Formats: sequence, structure tokens, C-alpha cells
Amino acid sequence: MDFRQNDAIAKRMEFMLNRVQTLKEHDLYFYNQPVSEIRGGGRVLVKGREMGMYASYSYLGLIGHPRINAAAKAAVDRYGTGTHGVRTLAGSLPIHEELEETIAHFRGAEAAVTYSSGYATNLTVISTLLGRGDYVISDKLNHASIVDGCLMSGAKFVRFKHNDMEALEARLKEIPAEAGKIVIADSVFSMDGDIIDFPKMVELCQKYHARLMVDEAHSVGVLGKTGRGIEEHFGMPGVIDIKMGTLSKTIPSVGGYVAGKSEIITFLRHASRAYIFSAALPPAQAAAANEAFKVILDEPWRVEKLNANTQQFINGLKARGFDTMLTETAIVPVLLGEDETAFAMTQHAQHHDVFVLPVVSPAVPQGLARLRATVTAAHEYDEIEYAMNVIETAGRELGILDSKA
Ligand SMILES: *Cc1c(COP(=O)(O)O)cnc(C)c1O
Repeated sequence: MDFRQNDAIAKRMEFMLNRVQTLKEHDLYFYNQPVSEIRGGGRVLVKGREMGMYASYSYLGLIGHPRINAAAKAAVDRYGTGTHGVRTLAGSLPIHEELEETIAHFRGAEAAVTYSSGYATNLTVISTLLGRGDYVISDKLNHASIVDGCLMSGAKFVRFKHNDMEALEARLKEIPAEAGKIVIADSVFSMDGDIIDFPKMVELCQKYHARLMVDEAHSVGVLGKTGRGIEEHFGMPGVIDIKMGTLSKTIPSVGGYVAGKSEIITFLRHASRAYIFSAALPPAQAAAANEAFKVILDEPWRVEKLNANTQQFINGLKARGFDTMLTETAIVPVLLGEDETAFAMTQHAQHHDVFVLPVVSPAVPQGLARLRATVTAAHEYDEIEYAMNVIETAGRELGILDSKA
């Protein structure tokens, strides 16, 4: 008997492949659909149909912005499409240094360092700063890339109940005073859209002498009057030690970064493996990201419009009777319950040209399945009303909302 054919690996694959197959058979498979065109007003072309896009992280509608496209094209003309390898050796270009200066300026930090993705950034930064004997204290709903970085670091991995500052303090009290420790949280949580209790977390980090790292994937361009993120939102500049962000969401490129004190950034530049052993960002992507930060500051109406759209969307869904949980941001969960309900709602919405996606177990606990809809600055008022009406009709048909109302 060949045990390789029927081992735990085969079982793991079989489980997933069966799930995918079953969903496809029932016309309930909504993942990996190619978006073949992006049009104005937050609209996209999917399988030949124009749909309102409510699953985009391009919060400020910057994908395709003429200035950003032009910067990317100019970089290709000047440098070509690739780098010569890793930054440390021949891969550094002037555009990388410019980008890192732009990020540091935008984030109100002394310096910044970039990596090839946000995922790689969390993995490498957390595992470089922390090692055996240290402690990492992480919110239970932190992004997978943070969790993976914590596991990889070899530090004691301590988790606290989501956004519960009493739980965080209880954990911090148990940790030896002299131990190296970093508290890590998302600023805005990617499944629920809620904001971390930042003032209290900062206070606890100061009280217990822990460094603070915040992942701002969903708050840059979203929180704060000028979109600079959670410090601006709470009026507390310069309190985060390690400001992490991605270049793939509000910033229409790819890559990740951390910003902070020069000493931390210089250390990471010489010690983090994703910097030393992985190729530099391609010139076009670095140039696009660099230009995007400038566009955000030059076009402040985008942050204002995102805020107005967010209010319209959250309030409109609540008024229609939906539970949007604790969101205060552009990520808007529509709580439904069972996985099947979330799939059926998605099917109805997509058949009516509203592109939303379901979030089901194991990404969220069973019974907490939902639609997760995002609004952006690209949406127009009437489009958002239409999308909410489609979701409302589906909710009535599926018995989520009272059908009489
Ligand atoms: C998307 C995301 C990342 C990963 O960023 P990529 O640049 O897409 O790799 C990290 N953290 C959070 C909270 C995210 O939402």
C-alpha cells in the first residue's frame, strides 16, 4: 500500500477540494472571478456584466488615477520592469529611497523601509524584532500575517480578547517587567470594520513599557482628516513605535512598509530577511506608490467623500434593519448567521449586479457568517442607494428582514 496516497495531506486537500466542488455545483462559488475592467463610479466589468464594486480595498478610488499611472509608466521608461535583485546588493533605485522618504513624511516618522508585500512585512518585521524569551501580545482578531509573524518569531505568543483593554492589561501584568515585549493590533479590523481602542492601548503600552506596533492596512487613507491613519484620528501623533502599512489597498500598488524611528528602520534594513533575501519592489510599483501618497494629500476631497459614503452606507443598512456589528469604517459587515444564508445573499446581490462577497467559517466563527461590503470614494450616492436596496430585497426574500415591513 502506498501511504503517500492516503495520508493526512491527501485528506486535507480532499476536504477543501470537495467544498470548492460543491459550491461550484450550486452556483455558489464567488471567489477568484476575474475583474476585466475598472470603470468610473466604483463600477467594474465581471464576466461581461457591469457591476457596482463593493469588495474593493481601493478606499480612495485611486486605481487608474492619471497621475499615478503616469508615474508608473515613466518609471518603466527610465528603469525597465525589474530590479537587479535584493535591495542590499544591486536592487536599490533612487525611486525606492524617494518612496521611503515619502512614506516617512506621510506617516510622521523619521524613516521607513519597504518590502514586497504587506504579508511579508508583518512576517519579517515581527520575527526580526522578537525572538525566544520575548513576548508578543496580539489581539485575537489580528490579521493572519501578524499571527504568522508571531508564530515564526519564536517569542511567547500571548493573545487577548478582541479589543478588550482589561484583557490586554491582565496579560501585560503577567509578563516579567524586564522581558522584551511588543503589543500588536490592527487599527481597523479587516472582518468587522471596528477601530481598536487606541488611546487605552497606548496608555497600557506606556504603563508596562511595551513597544507598540499597529497594522494600518485599513486605516491609511481612511482614518484622520487627511487620511494619515489612527494617530491622526485620535489626535495622538507619534505614539506608535512601529507603524506598519500596505501599498496594495488605498495605495494602488503592491508592497508593504514599516515607518518609525531611524534606529529601528536601520536595524530592519540590515537584519530582516525579507529585505535581505527577497527582491526589491519593481520600479513601476514603487513609483506608483510614491505618487499615490502625494495624490492623497493633494486631493483631500477623497477622504471626505469616503467618510460621507461610509456614513450613508452604514446608516442606510441599519435603517433597513441589518446588523452591521461595530463598524465605523468603510468595511461594513452585514451579519447574517449561517454560511448558507451568506452564500444565498451573495448570489442574489451578484445576480443584480452588486459585487459583494460572503465571509464564512472558518474565516469567522460559525453562526457569524456575513456579507462584507466595502464602500470607496469612487461610489456615487445613487449607486450606494441601489446596492442597499438590492441587499434589502435579498434580506426580505431570505427571511433575514421582516418581510412585511
Ligand atoms: C491586506 C492586509 C495585509 C497584507 O497586505 P498585502 O500587501 O496584501 O500583503 C496585512 N495586514 C492587514 C490587516 C491586511 O488587511
